[in-house]
Amino acid sequence: MSSVFTLINPATGQAFGEVPRASLDEVDAAIERAVVAQRTWSGLPPLARADALRSFARVVEEHVEDLAQLEVRNSGHPIGSARWEASHVAQVLNFYAGAPERLSGQQIPVAGGLNVTFHEPYGVVGIIVPWNFPMTIASWGVAPALAAGNAVVLKPAELTPLTAIRLGELALEAGLPEGLFTVVTGQGSVVGERFVSHPAVRKVVFTGSTEVGVEVASGCARALKPVTLELGGKSANIVFDDADLEKAAAAAPGAVFDNAGQDCCARSRILVQRSVYDRFLELLEPAVAAWRVGDPTLETTEMGPLISAAHRSSVEGFLDGADIAFRGSAPAGDGFWMAPAVVLARPDERIAQDEVFGPVVAVLPFDDEEAAIRLANDTVYGLAGSLWTENLGRAVRVARGVKSGVLSVNSHASVRYWTPFGGMKSSGLGRELGPDAAEHFTETKNVFFATDAS
Ligand code: NAD
Repeated sequence: MSSVFTLINPATGQAFGEVPRASLDEVDAAIERAVVAQRTWSGLPPLARADALRSFARVVEEHVEDLAQLEVRNSGHPIGSARWEASHVAQVLNFYAGAPERLSGQQIPVAGGLNVTFHEPYGVVGIIVPWNFPMTIASWGVAPALAAGNAVVLKPAELTPLTAIRLGELALEAGLPEGLFTVVTGQGSVVGERFVSHPAVRKVVFTGSTEVGVEVASGCARALKPVTLELGGKSANIVFDDADLEKAAAAAPGAVFDNAGQDCCARSRILVQRSVYDRFLELLEPAVAAWRVGDPTLETTEMGPLISAAHRSSVEGFLDGADIAFRGSAPAGDGFWMAPAVVLARPDERIAQDEVFGPVVAVLPFDDEEAAIRLANDTVYGLAGSLWTENLGRAVRVARGVKSGVLSVNSHASVRYWTPFGGMKSSGLGRELGPDAAEHFTETKNVFFATDAS
């Protein structure tokens, strides 16, 4: 097997670079360096760790354009989105730079002494990320893990390692100690599996498919290692007949076709109340036609290509025999282009159940509120969801009734770094981001100090 991966620009189909495929020995060496770096890091005063993370954030801010251009080339993300992603990384680092001084324990009243708790870092944390949002997802693990006093080894996806590699370089440029945050490129079955099996990696954060997530979780269970899983989704966008239909229809393409639908939070099922079903589709068609698919280097582009030829053919497979209502447009050419598709579906069809991870949305009718909740919950997933209604009581009832970790009402917002993010059911275990994320990278130690004089 070759010792390198070839990188392909998804917008052109052309190879443009190579990255090393780490061997098992190289993974072990990175983990051993992390063990050493973590001892010093966790012993630093909280302010020193906070300052180091702020410097890292500043250096990332200075390189937003550099990181964004890498993501355009490596992942085909539109430049506007890529700039947002790079800035988001800096913001995540800045936010968790506030955590070292806020990781307070408790003082619990006991007889005969003083009882206090400490939030101790795990040690080395292994973070495994997918190809769809390479740098943002990496930062969701890296920033809080470092803030809590851990070292991090990070494995980017084989297809999209460039921004993660660059973040590793920027960390050193910002003055983070050697070995504290190491990016190890390579295969999931070598690098990722080693994070799971290596005894010095004490927590694993995995974002990716449910199938691989289950494997990672089983390995972590055997090693009694905590694991956070951010997995697939089949999120519902529920449109009630009392909604502002124009607004709901205008927002629907962005909610599913952003990042070419390669988004775990993609609202890939639109559930529409039957009384407004035809009207909603009438409004949706021009919104899909207006969705701009094309050259990701252009500021006006809303959607680029899919990540690879193989992934595109898997996505296209979902359209075989499907009842396609209408499609958007896509450029011709050598990139992995695909025109967005709107499919009319029944609840038991594969297109209504499985994660497509591409620019395909299934539209299904429902009759009343109870049916909407039932339909929304009728998949193995439970990551995100949206609901559109002008009825406040209904908004509260449905938001509480849908079994998903992240919901929005009259909006599709899913990710803010200062609010918690994660899935229920087969969409995951644990939460990332939000005010408590740094604490999730610690384990509680309870210490009793006897104060009796005798
Ligand atoms: P994937 O599961 O194929 O790979 C994810 C990562 O795991 C990659 O880095 C891969 O190399 C690694 N890996 C593969 N086999 C491994 C093994 N045996 N042990 C350890 N690591 C291994 O997923 P993908 O195709 O890269 O990403 C798409 C999936 O990710 C979709 O299902 C999507 O919904 C999900 N995702 C979820 C979230 C979320 O936050 N819930 C976010 C983004 C993507």
